[in-house]
Amino acid sequence: MPAEQGILIAGKDGHILSADETTCRLLSYRAEDLLGQSLWALIGLDPRQGGKEVLSPVYREVRFPCGAGEMRTVQVSLSRLLLDSQQVFVCSLRQREEGSDGRVAFLAQVVSTLQQAKDEMQLSLDREKAVGQLKTRFIALASHEFRTPLSSIQLSAALIERYFDKQDREQVFRHLNKIRLRVDDLTGILEDLLCLERMNGGSIVPHYEVIDLPLFCRELAVEMQVLVKPGQQIRYQHHSDQLEVKLDKKLLRNCLMNLLSNAIKYSSENAGIDLETEVAESGCDIRITDQGIGIPAADQGNLFEPFFRAQNVTALQGTGLGLNIVKRYAELMQGSISFESQVQQGSVFTLNFPVR
Ligand code: ADP
Repeated sequence: MPAEQGILIAGKDGHILSADETTCRLLSYRAEDLLGQSLWALIGLDPRQGGKEVLSPVYREVRFPCGAGEMRTVQVSLSRLLLDSQQVFVCSLRQREEGSDGRVAFLAQVVSTLQQAKDEMQLSLDREKAVGQLKTRFIALASHEFRTPLSSIQLSAALIERYFDKQDREQVFRHLNKIRLRVDDLTGILEDLLCLERMNGGSIVPHYEVIDLPLFCRELAVEMQVLVKPGQQIRYQHHSDQLEVKLDKKLLRNCLMNLLSNAIKYSSENAGIDLETEVAESGCDIRITDQGIGIPAADQGNLFEPFFRAQNVTALQGTGLGLNIVKRYAELMQGSISFESQVQQGSVFTLNFPVR
């Protein structure tokens, strides 16, 4: 078994940024005592040369006291990594094995650890960049999507004042209701954003329970019927004898509410919306079909990207977050989502889950 290897990471000025457990054990230091120290001083490299000289990996053996007057020989390899044009130093440490200098084996191990460290750091940098991009897009969205409901709330508030003086109760209630609806819009946007944030933090874990799918969908269809446009009808049908599925109720509910409210929003008055389910050995399918405006072929490839909205919906309110959340919720439950759509003909969104 190869000897345990520790890793120290230092910034471009040589100050230690992180030290793992193995390093602390090898050097008989506590991590908090190592952080901020000069790496050059620790491994006996001339601080004036510092990192400037470390263009190719440096190998050396350093002796550290390890208690009771004993010394321990530690093999040290120092390399410079460039990550997004930021310079960091990665120092690998291993106790020298008695009998052989083990140098070749150690360096081979160092190379693979370095590659691994580089991959991991690149991954977290990429993640950070993606979060940064999301935040930029959120600010663009907030300034655009928040402005309309906020000015509508302001207008209704001003009108309420006027109608209140005239004692026109009907108009006062009409505008109070408008305010309530606009506040719901704003809450919806904020909830989507919180969902996204929680998912990025990995804090959503599905809690599976047995669900009577037809019962669940029938109730949801009735609930959503309140939100339809005049003449729109949500029809529900179940197509198999098997009724039960094991899924997370809250996540499933959120998926279906998102898909149904899109079907409502992107269809005209009097249009039918079909919700259909089927449970078989091979899996559970949930399908939502509308006869709405459809999705232009050129936009179909990006539909599940956060904040993406197709070119034919700019006049309709939305954040472009719903489908991204549905896809990620479905995947959290080992499921998937797919769709087919044609402009002015309609869209079919299908969720598929394995039956457990
Ligand atoms: P939002 O509806 O808030 O814009 P979504 O993430 O739910 O965001 O949907 C992303 C985009 O996908 C929408 O902006 C719209 O262009 C398109 N879309 C989603 N569902 C439908 C549908 N049923 N019919 C037509 N277009 C749809």
